[in-house]
Amino acid sequence: MQLKIYNSLAGEKQIFKPILEGNVGMYVCGPTVYSNVHLGNVRTFLSFDFIYRSLTHLGYKVRYVRNITDAGHLTDDGDVNNDRFVKQTRLEKLEPMEIVQKYTVDFHKVLDMFNLLPPSIEPTATGHIVEQIELTQKLIEKGFAYESNGSVYFDVLEYNNRGLNYGELSKRNIEELFANTRDLDGQGEKKNPQDFALWKKASPAHIMRWNSPWGEGFPGWHLECTAMSTKYLGDKFDIHGGGMDLKFPHHECEIAQGKACNDIEPVNYWMHANMLTMNSQRMSKSTGNYILPKQLVSGENDFFEKPFHPTIVRFCFLQAHYRSVLDISNDAMIASEKGFVRLMEAIKILNSITPKDQKESGFNLQDWKTKAYDALNDDFNSPVLIAHLFEAVKFIFALKDEKETISTADLEDLKSTLHAFVFDVLGLQAIEENNNEKLNQTLQVLIELRNQARKSKNFDLSDQIRDKLLAEGIELKDGRDGTSYVLN
Ligand code: AMP
Ligand code: ZN
Repeated sequence: MQLKIYNSLAGEKQIFKPILEGNVGMYVCGPTVYSNVHLGNVRTFLSFDFIYRSLTHLGYKVRYVRNITDAGHLTDDGDVNNDRFVKQTRLEKLEPMEIVQKYTVDFHKVLDMFNLLPPSIEPTATGHIVEQIELTQKLIEKGFAYESNGSVYFDVLEYNNRGLNYGELSKRNIEELFANTRDLDGQGEKKNPQDFALWKKASPAHIMRWNSPWGEGFPGWHLECTAMSTKYLGDKFDIHGGGMDLKFPHHECEIAQGKACNDIEPVNYWMHANMLTMNSQRMSKSTGNYILPKQLVSGENDFFEKPFHPTIVRFCFLQAHYRSVLDISNDAMIASEKGFVRLMEAIKILNSITPKDQKESGFNLQDWKTKAYDALNDDFNSPVLIAHLFEAVKFIFALKDEKETISTADLEDLKSTLHAFVFDVLGLQAIEENNNEKLNQTLQVLIELRNQARKSKNFDLSDQIRDKLLAEGIELKDGRDGTSYVLN
């Protein structure tokens, strides 16, 4: 089966044809490193890690570029005081590059914890200012951009007048957008409110600034990605990814910049990962509806009843297709943990199975492999792939109970295929002897004993249990709903 990818630009699944046979150029928008990534951000990066792993497993040589957005990040209103870097610099009393370093390190640590592979190239926006200035100059020369009061804007109306179709990705009717917003807001420097900044003049408050032909300033966010993607992957490349929320305006603007600069559609396949929700609402820092990865893993939160190993979180994420919304919940995590334990048990059992060459097996290994690969080729359908893996798990338990048999060749094939899917493609990791669950059960026993001691007013013993656990880095927390624990 040929690989099919859902292309947001076409609005349908398409057979994947790379520009250069056997090779894939893939760009994914990276984080804005002004604060810690939340679990929602992790989901998007994890979705593309799975896609990267799948492409590699399917035999493609992938150049995977994921940037770090570390230059001033423009806000929608363009007010420099709302710049997220400027705000955080003031709040933490740090140099902007200290903020960048702090949260880049945190980002890498978090992704490492969830076993994400590093990209082939991880360029930073601040390392590509020259390229961004050059692109801006080119856009001015070609008549697609204009300077205004030290800033440079992309002229969306001009782009559209030349028949280039602004809105092709987000399917927005730009004529309507113009009609509705033409007279609105004090656009000030812009010809039209839809025009977006390629280069922004730095106000005195803005600390991150560079010299340019238009005075001191900083680059626009959309231009950063065009500069870095085209530098490392060419004017036209295979896949561009990011979260669903980046479709408009970010990716729409990237398309406009690419087409205006190079007279070519910059990307063949646009891929968008769907959102992680919590309490049925999108996870987001600004609304306060978020959880940090380390809070989930340590148990230090009010949402989950216990800590979860990062590989369980990874497994839970992959049980939803990357284009579906996933609502994280305690029940979903518990169910994932159960499934994971059974999957790992099956892999272990496989090592102790004795093959029997003389008997026919009821499990058709080749059919099973075809179905599993079909799932992967069908727009990276991880939940269907996982469902097939559990068919194999069922068969392995039947082998253990001697209700089934397997030949020597098939046993080796099943072992290596299962290993490849579980560890290389899904990127799961074995948890040492399932310590997590054992530890949880042991702690529940200790909590129960402490409660009994307290009830019978044996406070010496109850305090001893609490203090000794604390000395081991396990903090008990008494709340309204009983006692929980945090691993420090
Ligand atoms: P940012 O650093 O804000 O640019 O976000 C980094 C990535 O996380 C982007 O690709 C966003 O689309 C993605 N993202 C933000 N919120 C969520 C969420 N709740 N679920 C999944 N991805 C998200
Ligand atoms: Zn981007």
